[in-house]
Amino acid sequence: MSWDGINARNFVGGRFVDASGGETLTNVNPASGELIGSIPRSRSADVDAAVAAAKAAGQGPWGRTSAVERAALLDRVACLIESRLEAFAIVESEDQGKPVGLASRVDIPRAVANFRFFAGMVRHKEEGAHHMASALNYTVRKPVGVCALITPWNLPLYLLTWKVAPALAMGNTIVAKPSELTPRTATLLAGVLSEAGLPEGVFNLLHGLGPEVGAPMTAHKDVKLVSFTGGTATGEHVARAAAPSFKKLSLELGGKNATLVFADADLDAAIEGAARAAFANQGEICLCGSRILVERSVHDRLVAGLVARAEALRVGDPADPTTDVGALVSADHHAKVSGYVALARAEGGTIAAGGQVPELPGALQGGNFLRPTVVTGLPATCRTATEEIFGPVVTVHPFDTEAEAIELANGVRYGLASSLWTSDLKRAHRVSQALDVGMVWVNTWLLRDLRVPFGGVKDSGVGREGGKWSVEFYSEAKNVCIAL
Ligand code: NAP
Repeated sequence: MSWDGINARNFVGGRFVDASGGETLTNVNPASGELIGSIPRSRSADVDAAVAAAKAAGQGPWGRTSAVERAALLDRVACLIESRLEAFAIVESEDQGKPVGLASRVDIPRAVANFRFFAGMVRHKEEGAHHMASALNYTVRKPVGVCALITPWNLPLYLLTWKVAPALAMGNTIVAKPSELTPRTATLLAGVLSEAGLPEGVFNLLHGLGPEVGAPMTAHKDVKLVSFTGGTATGEHVARAAAPSFKKLSLELGGKNATLVFADADLDAAIEGAARAAFANQGEICLCGSRILVERSVHDRLVAGLVARAEALRVGDPADPTTDVGALVSADHHAKVSGYVALARAEGGTIAAGGQVPELPGALQGGNFLRPTVVTGLPATCRTATEEIFGPVVTVHPFDTEAEAIELANGVRYGLASSLWTSDLKRAHRVSQALDVGMVWVNTWLLRDLRVPFGGVKDSGVGREGGKWSVEFYSEAKNVCIAL
């Protein structure tokens, strides 16, 4: 059962195993370019084995557990992760490049909260009854079956547990595939689930590449539900693969979120919020505010404040608890983000802050670092300002009227989230209604209540998760009508 903590392992039928073909990939530390260890390179034979294990487990005692029993198990999982918070945070930071302080304060506590929250949710769940003169209808919720859960590299454990916790709470079985760039907290989680008493085969974990593992998972005939978080282009493949067998589907995809700052806002708070939204987790959060639309009269003050904050952020060793901005997840991603800085210049933008690789000592010279970057002077319709960059790069654009701000905010293919800064309550309501997104924050950013619907519109995805939306997604409602 034990795992060496270095080389990621698959977890199938309650055992840590290698890929059946014995192939491996390498796991590289993004802060140094040094090798961490190996990852199983799974293929469709591994998918078949994991799905078979999950299907069999669903037909065993797990399928007959009560919600109260499952809630107790989720609570045990939460306690176990919490008791190893530091170990989880270190591994997450080493794999992903994020500051260990951030992983300790946000990522891992949120994984704990996900399990506690869905334990409470399922424990206190109520179902409807519909009375007729001649009959009583009542609704029961059944597990969907084998769930394929596919997650990206930016918030590895946080996003994986956001799916695993409700899927287990509702009695499903799981085949999970994290990004091959960030494999190890998922491997730690497999051990914790087993230690908490989860029966063999209920949670299965496969590592490897999307087209080789994710694609056969999403197409597998015995997989009944697919929950995918990742890029919009990949989401198209997933939707196509899942459609012929009518799987339940949730797609949480890309974003290009606007931060709207009106002249009547508390400008210091808006600058602070806009900077956090732009640069948190190296800008590698789907909800990051990567384009700031600001009323022209306060544009220059906002830019000055934003530049000061960007320049004050400490970029460096993710293992140092005082670091604010760590390394981008991979050399390829660093090249993509740097390419957008070059594009911003080519499109006529001014790099008001950042734009360059910081000088760092020793092994960190091999890392994927980029200083937080503020770009001004670009039209809000150019490629830099409308395509997802997913790094510490923000563009700033002035507007003159509320209508123009809304038009610019809505003028992208994405519709995930927005944050809006104003002291005018009526404007806050008006603009919130007009924004074509799944989530709006007013005078704040990334304040999360796990009960609320989470998801996007347009090319940012399909479906909602969170609270009762997750409970509904990870279960099938069945009506029973009894004649009186
Ligand atoms: P990605 O390339 O789309 O990958 C996401 C996951 O899908 C990875 O595990 C990937 O595996 C797998 N995958 C790749 N091809 C697949 C296929 N054909 N079938 C099934 N699975 C496949 O995304 P990423 O680069 O990891 O993450 C960044 C993106 O995620 C950004 O666009 C960001 O906005 C989005 N995101 C959205 C949300 C949200 O809630 N809306 C949250 C976080 C991130 P490999 O990587 O191992 O190949």
